[in-house]
Amino acid sequence: MDLSVILTYRCDSRCSMCHIWQNPTQPKAEVSLDTLAKLPGGFDYLNITGGEPTLRRDLMEVVDLLHPKTAVLEISTNGLHQNRLVPIVEKYPDIKVRISVEGSEATNNKIRGEENGYAKKIECMEALVAAGGCDLGFATTFQDENVDEIVDLYLMSRDMGVEFATSALHNGFQFHKNDNYQYDRLSVARHVEDLITEMMKAWDVKTLFRAYLNLGLIAKILGHDRLIACTAGTQFAFVDPWSDVYACNVRPDLLMGNLTEQSWDEILQGDVADQQRTKVRACEQNCWMVASAKTAMRNEHFAKLPKPGPALWVVINKVRSLFGQPIPFEKYVDYSIVHKDVDVVHRESHLGTRQRAKVQPTESRHYDQFQDGFFNR
Ligand code: SF4
Repeated sequence: MDLSVILTYRCDSRCSMCHIWQNPTQPKAEVSLDTLAKLPGGFDYLNITGGEPTLRRDLMEVVDLLHPKTAVLEISTNGLHQNRLVPIVEKYPDIKVRISVEGSEATNNKIRGEENGYAKKIECMEALVAAGGCDLGFATTFQDENVDEIVDLYLMSRDMGVEFATSALHNGFQFHKNDNYQYDRLSVARHVEDLITEMMKAWDVKTLFRAYLNLGLIAKILGHDRLIACTAGTQFAFVDPWSDVYACNVRPDLLMGNLTEQSWDEILQGDVADQQRTKVRACEQNCWMVASAKTAMRNEHFAKLPKPGPALWVVINKVRSLFGQPIPFEKYVDYSIVHKDVDVVHRESHLGTRQRAKVQPTESRHYDQFQDGFFNR
């Protein structure tokens, strides 16, 4: 099983597509080491995320605690605090670190509201490479403002010898956003084709399957159904900063339990979790985030192997790429169907603006204002 642990909702970026930074948690209310110690061993993948996880002063202790519990441990970070990350990578060179970057210097800093953010991220990545990290990479969210720069970002990552992870604009209670839609879905989707074509030239298996993940992102961007059914609550889950366990980070009604009050087994084997999995099976959201897509691609019997469908797609299109033939995107994606948005809300850059954050109360339930639904079509 995969698990994301949202250590904090504090964040020192000011992204236009995620408003966590406007709604920080109180440090003393955030999931504690004692609570995290209740997690069992044997996870396939654990992701430490936020908010910005490097703002937790006890991040090294969290890593010490979680590293033995999982085959892969990832930190998702804005990369602005290399002083917190370098000692961790020196101690655990196999730890996966993904630094969010949204484009060239001007584009990144505008989208993420980060003064000098791009330069700090590159510096941080170089420091992590020098520290001996062997699973490092950048992560980008496709959106109208950066989609013409994603091939360059991929090539930059490749030249630095690091990975390039992707996602598309998304709504979710975690992000405090329910209006993240592309302005021009077709144009964004077509740009993703260029990235897939470039990725299929690679020889490493990870990049080839990431190309397939990006095909799923085209479907998500156009508003189509998911390529593969969602496995939230069964193959992946989220722990939020208040120790609440959710099947996913999109629908706030998929709460399964609380890790402070219950054991992990009580939560996963309880009636509430079963009811939530029933809702997941009927869920009509069009998510294709890494957590939901990667686990859905995974073979049910052998976690390290993919399902036959994605594997076949990769083999066929790698051969086509070798022979210089284009990938027949029209065969996999019906471009004549593009979801029509009624109102498109333009995303504002928060670079250089002043805005007061509203610290979240400690008492539950934290997402009541979102119970009417999040829509990712
Ligand atoms: S498809 Fe539904 S259950 Fe799955 S991640 Fe999206 S909102 Fe959650």
